[in-house]
Amino acid sequence: MGRFDGRVALVTGSARGIGFGTASRFAEEGASVAILDLDEAAATEAAGRLPGQSIGIGCDVADADSVATAVARVVEALGGLHILVNNAGVTRDNLLFKMTEDDWDTVMSVHLRGAFLMSRVAQQHFVAQKYGKIVNTSSTSALGNRGQANYSAAKMGLQGFTRTLAIELGPLGVNVNAVAPGFIATDMTDATATRLGLDVEEFRRLSAEHNPVRRVGGPEDIAAAVTFLCSDEASYITGQTLYVDGGSTLV
Ligand code: NAD
Repeated sequence: MGRFDGRVALVTGSARGIGFGTASRFAEEGASVAILDLDEAAATEAAGRLPGQSIGIGCDVADADSVATAVARVVEALGGLHILVNNAGVTRDNLLFKMTEDDWDTVMSVHLRGAFLMSRVAQQHFVAQKYGKIVNTSSTSALGNRGQANYSAAKMGLQGFTRTLAIELGPLGVNVNAVAPGFIATDMTDATATRLGLDVEEFRRLSAEHNPVRRVGGPEDIAAAVTFLCSDEASYITGQTLYVDGGSTLV
Protein backbone atom coordinates (compact mmCIF):
# COMPACT_ATOMS: atom_id res chain seq x y z
CA MET A 1 0.00 0.00 0.00
CA GLY A 2 1.42 3.35 -1.02
CA ARG A 3 0.27 6.64 0.50
CA PHE A 4 -0.89 7.82 -2.92
CA ASP A 5 -2.46 4.70 -4.40
CA GLY A 6 -5.35 5.73 -6.64
CA ARG A 7 -4.32 9.39 -6.66
CA VAL A 8 -3.27 11.50 -9.63
CA ALA A 9 -0.51 14.02 -8.92
CA LEU A 10 0.51 16.83 -11.28
CA VAL A 11 3.85 18.56 -10.72
CA THR A 12 4.76 21.60 -12.83
CA GLY A 13 8.33 22.22 -13.96
CA SER A 14 9.14 18.59 -13.21
CA ALA A 15 11.28 17.47 -16.14
CA ARG A 16 14.27 17.98 -13.81
CA GLY A 17 15.42 19.24 -10.42
CA ILE A 18 13.15 19.51 -7.40
CA GLY A 19 10.06 18.89 -9.53
CA PHE A 20 11.39 15.61 -10.90
CA GLY A 21 12.44 14.51 -7.41
CA THR A 22 8.93 15.24 -6.17
CA ALA A 23 7.24 13.53 -9.12
CA SER A 24 9.44 10.46 -8.50
CA ARG A 25 8.45 10.27 -4.85
CA PHE A 26 4.74 10.46 -5.71
CA ALA A 27 5.20 7.70 -8.31
CA GLU A 28 7.16 5.51 -5.88
CA GLU A 29 4.30 5.83 -3.39
CA GLY A 30 1.61 4.75 -5.81
CA ALA A 31 0.36 7.90 -7.56
CA SER A 32 -0.18 8.26 -11.27
CA VAL A 33 1.94 11.28 -12.15
CA ALA A 34 1.79 14.06 -14.72
CA ILE A 35 5.05 15.82 -15.53
CA LEU A 36 4.42 19.28 -16.98
CA ASP A 37 7.30 21.30 -18.35
CA LEU A 38 8.02 23.75 -21.17
CA ASP A 39 9.35 21.15 -23.58
CA GLU A 40 7.04 18.19 -24.25
CA ALA A 41 9.89 15.90 -25.33
CA ALA A 42 11.79 16.53 -22.08
CA ALA A 43 8.61 16.06 -20.03
CA THR A 44 7.81 12.80 -21.83
CA GLU A 45 11.37 11.52 -21.38
CA ALA A 46 11.23 12.31 -17.64
CA ALA A 47 7.82 10.67 -17.28
CA GLY A 48 9.27 7.55 -18.90
CA ARG A 49 11.74 7.25 -16.01
CA LEU A 50 8.96 7.02 -13.40
CA PRO A 51 7.55 3.76 -12.10
CA GLY A 52 3.83 3.24 -12.72
CA GLN A 53 1.42 5.22 -14.86
CA SER A 54 2.64 8.65 -15.96
CA ILE A 55 2.39 11.23 -18.70
CA GLY A 56 4.68 14.05 -19.83
CA ILE A 57 3.09 17.19 -21.26
CA GLY A 58 4.53 20.37 -22.72
CA CYS A 59 2.98 23.35 -20.92
CA ASP A 60 3.83 26.97 -20.22
CA VAL A 61 2.26 27.59 -16.81
CA ALA A 62 2.10 31.33 -17.53
CA ASP A 63 -0.23 30.77 -20.50
CA ALA A 64 -3.92 30.22 -19.72
CA ASP A 65 -4.72 28.19 -22.86
CA SER A 66 -1.66 26.00 -22.40
CA VAL A 67 -2.65 25.33 -18.77
CA ALA A 68 -6.28 24.50 -19.60
CA THR A 69 -5.24 22.11 -22.37
CA ALA A 70 -2.59 20.41 -20.24
CA VAL A 71 -4.89 19.81 -17.26
CA ALA A 72 -7.62 18.43 -19.56
CA ARG A 73 -5.05 16.03 -21.05
CA VAL A 74 -3.97 14.89 -17.57
CA VAL A 75 -7.54 14.19 -16.49
CA GLU A 76 -8.25 12.34 -19.73
CA ALA A 77 -5.06 10.24 -19.64
CA LEU A 78 -4.81 9.50 -15.91
CA GLY A 79 -8.50 9.50 -14.98
CA GLY A 80 -8.68 12.51 -12.66
CA LEU A 81 -6.66 14.97 -10.61
CA HIS A 82 -6.12 15.02 -6.83
CA ILE A 83 -2.80 16.77 -6.20
CA LEU A 84 -1.21 19.87 -7.73
CA VAL A 85 2.34 20.96 -6.98
CA ASN A 86 3.17 24.40 -8.36
CA ASN A 87 6.92 23.99 -8.73
CA ALA A 88 7.85 25.56 -12.10
CA GLY A 89 10.26 28.41 -11.60
CA VAL A 90 12.88 30.67 -13.12
CA THR A 91 15.31 33.27 -11.83
CA ARG A 92 16.29 36.55 -13.47
CA ASP A 93 18.62 37.92 -10.80
CA ASN A 94 19.85 41.51 -10.90
CA LEU A 95 20.36 44.35 -8.49
CA LEU A 96 17.41 46.73 -8.62
CA PHE A 97 19.17 49.40 -10.67
CA LYS A 98 20.00 46.83 -13.36
CA MET A 99 16.76 44.85 -13.24
CA THR A 100 14.80 45.13 -16.47
CA GLU A 101 11.03 45.09 -16.82
CA ASP A 102 11.44 41.77 -18.58
CA ASP A 103 13.38 40.37 -15.58
CA TRP A 104 10.51 41.45 -13.34
CA ASP A 105 7.64 40.30 -15.59
CA THR A 106 9.16 36.91 -16.41
CA VAL A 107 9.60 35.97 -12.78
CA MET A 108 6.14 37.22 -11.80
CA SER A 109 4.57 35.37 -14.74
CA VAL A 110 6.06 31.97 -14.08
CA HIS A 111 5.77 31.92 -10.29
CA LEU A 112 2.66 33.95 -9.48
CA ARG A 113 0.58 33.91 -12.65
CA GLY A 114 1.58 30.27 -13.20
CA ALA A 115 0.46 29.16 -9.73
CA PHE A 116 -2.74 31.18 -10.12
CA LEU A 117 -3.64 29.70 -13.53
CA MET A 118 -2.81 26.13 -12.52
CA SER A 119 -4.70 26.36 -9.22
CA ARG A 120 -7.76 27.94 -10.84
CA VAL A 121 -8.13 25.06 -13.29
CA ALA A 122 -7.24 22.33 -10.78
CA GLN A 123 -9.72 23.55 -8.16
CA GLN A 124 -12.61 22.83 -10.53
CA HIS A 125 -11.78 19.14 -10.21
CA PHE A 126 -10.94 19.33 -6.51
CA VAL A 127 -14.15 21.10 -5.54
CA ALA A 128 -16.33 18.76 -7.64
CA GLN A 129 -14.86 15.73 -5.82
CA LYS A 130 -14.53 17.52 -2.45
CA TYR A 131 -10.86 16.47 -2.29
CA GLY A 132 -7.65 18.10 -3.35
CA LYS A 133 -4.15 19.10 -2.28
CA ILE A 134 -2.15 22.06 -3.52
CA VAL A 135 1.47 22.77 -2.60
CA ASN A 136 3.09 25.97 -3.81
CA THR A 137 6.85 26.39 -3.98
CA SER A 138 8.09 29.45 -2.11
CA SER A 139 11.73 29.97 -1.10
CA THR A 140 13.89 31.23 1.74
CA SER A 141 14.48 34.16 -0.65
CA ALA A 142 10.94 35.29 0.22
CA LEU A 143 12.52 36.72 3.39
CA GLY A 144 14.79 38.94 1.28
CA ASN A 145 17.84 38.23 -0.86
CA ARG A 146 20.23 40.62 -2.54
CA GLY A 147 19.79 40.64 -6.33
CA GLN A 148 16.40 38.94 -6.19
CA ALA A 149 13.81 41.71 -5.73
CA ASN A 150 11.62 40.06 -8.38
CA TYR A 151 12.04 36.49 -7.11
CA SER A 152 11.71 37.45 -3.45
CA ALA A 153 8.49 39.37 -4.11
CA ALA A 154 7.07 36.47 -6.12
CA LYS A 155 8.02 33.89 -3.51
CA MET A 156 6.54 35.91 -0.63
CA GLY A 157 3.51 36.54 -2.85
CA LEU A 158 3.06 32.79 -3.08
CA GLN A 159 2.85 32.59 0.70
CA GLY A 160 -0.07 35.07 0.70
CA PHE A 161 -1.63 33.20 -2.21
CA THR A 162 -1.32 29.96 -0.24
CA ARG A 163 -2.99 31.38 2.87
CA THR A 164 -5.85 32.86 0.86
CA LEU A 165 -6.54 29.69 -1.13
CA ALA A 166 -6.49 27.75 2.14
CA ILE A 167 -9.24 30.00 3.51
CA GLU A 168 -11.34 29.81 0.34
CA LEU A 169 -10.93 26.11 -0.42
CA GLY A 170 -10.69 24.55 3.06
CA PRO A 171 -14.46 24.20 3.43
CA LEU A 172 -14.51 22.45 0.06
CA GLY A 173 -12.09 19.66 1.01
CA VAL A 174 -8.91 21.20 -0.35
CA ASN A 175 -5.68 21.70 1.64
CA VAL A 176 -3.29 24.37 0.39
CA ASN A 177 0.24 24.70 1.75
CA ALA A 178 3.66 25.92 0.63
CA VAL A 179 7.21 24.69 1.01
CA ALA A 180 10.06 27.19 1.14
CA PRO A 181 13.30 25.45 0.13
CA GLY A 182 16.69 26.73 1.11
CA PHE A 183 19.72 25.90 -1.04
CA ILE A 184 18.91 22.81 -3.09
CA ALA A 185 21.52 21.42 -5.47
CA THR A 186 19.89 21.67 -8.92
CA ASP A 187 20.52 23.28 -12.31
CA MET A 188 19.04 26.49 -10.88
CA THR A 189 21.65 26.85 -8.13
CA ASP A 190 24.41 25.61 -10.47
CA ALA A 191 23.46 28.46 -12.84
CA THR A 192 23.71 30.92 -9.95
CA ALA A 193 27.23 29.65 -9.20
CA THR A 194 28.21 30.15 -12.83
CA ARG A 195 26.73 33.64 -12.87
CA LEU A 196 28.74 34.55 -9.75
CA GLY A 197 31.90 33.12 -11.34
CA LEU A 198 32.17 30.33 -8.75
CA ASP A 199 32.84 26.65 -9.19
CA VAL A 200 29.63 24.67 -8.61
CA GLU A 201 31.11 22.45 -5.87
CA GLU A 202 32.73 25.44 -4.15
CA PHE A 203 29.39 27.31 -4.19
CA ARG A 204 27.69 24.30 -2.56
CA ARG A 205 30.46 24.00 0.02
CA LEU A 206 30.22 27.69 0.94
CA SER A 207 26.43 27.47 1.23
CA ALA A 208 26.69 24.39 3.46
CA GLU A 209 29.10 26.22 5.77
CA HIS A 210 26.43 28.83 6.57
CA ASN A 211 23.81 26.25 7.34
CA PRO A 212 23.22 24.70 10.82
CA VAL A 213 23.01 21.16 9.37
CA ARG A 214 26.21 21.80 7.39
CA ARG A 215 24.99 20.46 4.08
CA VAL A 216 23.00 21.68 1.11
CA GLY A 217 19.68 20.08 0.30
CA GLY A 218 18.72 17.76 -2.51
CA PRO A 219 15.43 17.39 -4.40
CA GLU A 220 14.57 14.44 -2.15
CA ASP A 221 14.48 16.76 0.89
CA ILE A 222 11.76 18.86 -0.74
CA ALA A 223 9.96 15.80 -2.11
CA ALA A 224 9.65 14.41 1.43
CA ALA A 225 8.03 17.61 2.70
CA VAL A 226 5.73 18.04 -0.30
CA THR A 227 4.47 14.47 -0.18
CA PHE A 228 3.85 14.73 3.57
CA LEU A 229 1.76 17.89 3.01
CA CYS A 230 -0.19 16.08 0.26
CA SER A 231 -0.78 12.98 2.37
CA ASP A 232 -3.95 12.34 4.34
CA GLU A 233 -1.88 12.44 7.56
CA ALA A 234 -1.53 16.18 6.94
CA SER A 235 -5.24 16.86 6.43
CA TYR A 236 -5.38 19.20 9.47
CA ILE A 237 -2.55 21.34 8.09
CA THR A 238 -3.47 24.13 5.69
CA GLY A 239 -2.32 27.64 4.82
CA GLN A 240 1.19 26.95 6.13
CA THR A 241 4.62 27.56 4.68
CA LEU A 242 7.12 24.91 5.71
CA TYR A 243 10.76 26.06 5.47
CA VAL A 244 12.92 23.15 4.34
CA ASP A 245 16.31 24.78 4.56
CA GLY A 246 18.53 22.97 7.05
CA GLY A 247 17.93 25.87 9.41
CA SER A 248 19.56 28.47 7.14
CA THR A 249 16.95 31.09 7.97
CA LEU A 250 17.75 30.76 11.69
CA VAL A 251 21.23 32.22 11.33
P1 NAD B 1 15.25 24.02 -12.19
O1 NAD B 1 15.66 25.20 -12.98
O2 NAD B 1 16.17 22.85 -12.09
O3 NAD B 1 13.83 23.47 -12.68
C1 NAD B 1 12.77 24.35 -12.95
C2 NAD B 1 11.88 23.70 -14.01
O4 NAD B 1 10.78 24.59 -14.28
C3 NAD B 1 12.62 23.48 -15.35
O5 NAD B 1 12.44 22.15 -15.79
C4 NAD B 1 11.97 24.50 -16.27
O6 NAD B 1 11.92 24.09 -17.62
C5 NAD B 1 10.57 24.60 -15.67
N1 NAD B 1 9.87 25.83 -16.07
C6 NAD B 1 10.38 27.08 -16.11
N2 NAD B 1 9.46 27.93 -16.59
C7 NAD B 1 8.34 27.20 -16.84
C8 NAD B 1 7.06 27.52 -17.35
N3 NAD B 1 6.74 28.78 -17.71
N4 NAD B 1 6.14 26.52 -17.48
C9 NAD B 1 6.48 25.24 -17.14
N5 NAD B 1 7.68 24.89 -16.65
C10 NAD B 1 8.60 25.86 -16.51
O7 NAD B 1 14.91 24.60 -10.74
P2 NAD B 1 14.72 23.90 -9.30
O8 NAD B 1 15.88 24.27 -8.50
O9 NAD B 1 14.35 22.47 -9.46
O10 NAD B 1 13.49 24.75 -8.76
C11 NAD B 1 12.16 24.26 -8.64
C12 NAD B 1 11.35 25.25 -7.82
O11 NAD B 1 11.93 25.39 -6.53
C13 NAD B 1 11.30 26.65 -8.41
O12 NAD B 1 10.03 27.22 -8.17
C14 NAD B 1 12.35 27.39 -7.62
O13 NAD B 1 12.12 28.78 -7.62
C15 NAD B 1 12.17 26.76 -6.27
N6 NAD B 1 13.32 26.88 -5.37
C16 NAD B 1 14.53 26.32 -5.70
C17 NAD B 1 15.59 26.44 -4.81
C18 NAD B 1 16.94 25.84 -5.08
O14 NAD B 1 17.86 26.08 -4.28
N7 NAD B 1 17.13 25.08 -6.16
C19 NAD B 1 15.41 27.12 -3.60
C20 NAD B 1 14.17 27.67 -3.31
C21 NAD B 1 13.12 27.54 -4.20
